[in-house]
Amino acid sequence: MADKETFTRADSLRGNLTDLRTCYDIRYYHLDVKLDIGKKFISGSNVFEFTATRDFNRLQFDLFDNLKVEKIEYNGTELQFTREFNAVFVSFPNTVKQGQRDRFKVFYSGKPVEAKNAPWDGGVMFSKDDSGKPWVATACQGVGASIWWPNKDHQSDEVDSMLISVTVPEGLQDVSNGRLRKVSPAGNGYTRYDWFVANPINNYCVSLNIGDYDHWGEAFDGEKGKLDLDFWVLKANRKKAEKQFAANVKPMLKAFEYWFGPYPFYEDGYKLVETPHLGMEHQSAVAYGNKFQNGYMGRDLSGTGWGLKWDFIVVHESGHEWFGNNITSKDLADMWIHESFTNYSESLFIESLYGKKAGQEYVHGTRGAILNDKPVQGIYNVNKEGSGDMYYKGGNLLNMIRTIINDDTKWRHILRGLNKTFYHRTVDATDIISYINGQSGIDLSKVFGQYLKFKNIPTLEVKFEKGKTFCRWIADVDDFDMPVRLRVKGGEYQFVKPSTSFAEIALPGATKENFEVDSFNYYIGLLLE
Ligand SMILES: [Zn+2]
Repeated sequence: MADKETFTRADSLRGNLTDLRTCYDIRYYHLDVKLDIGKKFISGSNVFEFTATRDFNRLQFDLFDNLKVEKIEYNGTELQFTREFNAVFVSFPNTVKQGQRDRFKVFYSGKPVEAKNAPWDGGVMFSKDDSGKPWVATACQGVGASIWWPNKDHQSDEVDSMLISVTVPEGLQDVSNGRLRKVSPAGNGYTRYDWFVANPINNYCVSLNIGDYDHWGEAFDGEKGKLDLDFWVLKANRKKAEKQFAANVKPMLKAFEYWFGPYPFYEDGYKLVETPHLGMEHQSAVAYGNKFQNGYMGRDLSGTGWGLKWDFIVVHESGHEWFGNNITSKDLADMWIHESFTNYSESLFIESLYGKKAGQEYVHGTRGAILNDKPVQGIYNVNKEGSGDMYYKGGNLLNMIRTIINDDTKWRHILRGLNKTFYHRTVDATDIISYINGQSGIDLSKVFGQYLKFKNIPTLEVKFEKGKTFCRWIADVDDFDMPVRLRVKGGEYQFVKPSTSFAEIALPGATKENFEVDSFNYYIGLLLE
C-alpha cells in the first residue's frame, strides 16, 4: 500500500499512457541539436517517425515548458499545437490512418534546465575540466528526457533506431550513444557529430557528452563474437583510465555475459564516457564519473570489504545494459526491475571473481542501508518511482529468490532467459514475476508481493511447546507462504513452508536455544516464543 500522496495534472500528463500517446508507436528519431555552451542554449529539431496504431488526428509529445516549440513541420505544412505544462498537443489537418507510417519534425530552442546535482537531479550539466575547457553532459532519468529534447516521454515506447546529431564548438567533441558515423565542419567555428543507434533505446539513455576527450578502442571476445569497446576520457586522465578500465571492464563483461547472456547491443558497441557527474546507464555510452577508483566514490556500500575490490560505476552502470536498457520497465513505478537486478548483478560480479559466499556476503552487508520506509514499487501512471530500497532490498530479495529456487543452474538460466525473452522490450512487474514463476515451477507471487508492494518485511513467528515446534508468517500479503530454510544448530538446513496460521513443523530436537533460520540469505524478521 502506498502512503497517501497527491499527484497533479502535470504528473498525469507525464506518466499516464492516454489515447493521445498510444495512438502512435514511435519508430525512429533524428535529434539534431546545436549547443551554444557560453549561453547555455540549445536549438535544433527532432524528427518523429511513427506508425499510427489507430486512426487519429491529435497526439501528445513532451517538452519542458521552459523550452520553446518554434514550429512543427508535417508534409510541407505547419501543424497547430497547444501546450499544457510539459505536454504538447498537436493537431493534424486530416486523419492519420491506422497502420500509416508517417513523420513530423519539431523545431525547438531555449535554455534547458541545468542539473543542480546530476545524475540524481537531472537536466544539462554545464561544467569545466581542470584545464578550464567546457565539459557538458546530460542526465535525466526519472525527470524525463523532455527536460532537454522533444520526444514521446514515456518508458513504454522505444524507437527502433535513432540518429543523434550534435553540433559543438571546434576543439570539443560530442560522444553520444551508438556508433560515430561522421564528423563534419558545421561552419562558424562549429563541428557536427553524427551518432547512430541501431537498437531500441529508452529516452533517458539518449545523451550528450561534450568535452576535450581522448579516445582509444579495444575489443572483447564475447558470446556473440567481437564486441567493440571504446573509451572516451579527458586527456589528462588517459593513463589512470587505461589502468582502471583494464582491471574492470573485461572481467565485468565476462561475468555478465555468463549470468545474463550476450551483451545486448553488439551492433552499437560498448563505451565508457567520462562525465562530470558520477555515472548513468546511458545505453552503449555508459557515463562514468567515479574518478578511476574502486568502490562507490571510494566507499564500500556493503561494509564487507568486497565492495572495494572493483569499480562500482563501471560494474553497476554496465549491469544496466541488461536490466534497464535491454529490459526496460514500461512505467517508472517498476524502476525496481532496473535497480534491483542491477544491484544484484554487483554480487554476481563478485561471485564470478571470488566465489558464491563472497557475493552473498556482499548482499548481506548491504542490508544496513535498507530503510523499509515505503514500498519498493512506485505508483503507476504518474511517473512515480518507489523507495530507494529498490537497490539493496531488491538485491536481497533476488538473492532470497535464488535461495528458494535452490538450483543455481536453473537460476542462471532464468536470468539469461529473462534477457532473451524480453530482449529489447519494455515490461511490467507481472511479466518478470510470471516468467520467474513459470521457469522455477514455484509460485513466488506472494514473496514478490510482500517485498515490492509493502514497506515491512515478513516476520517468522516460532513457538516451542512440549517438544514440538510451531511456526507461522506475519505478513501484509494474504496467505503469505514463502518457503524458508530452518535447522537445528549444527544440522543441515531444510525447507519448510509455513502459512499465516500456526502449524507444527518437523524439526526434531528443536528448542528455542538451538533453532536457526537462514538469516544470512533470508531478509526476514524473527520472533521466537
Ligand atoms: Zn542503477
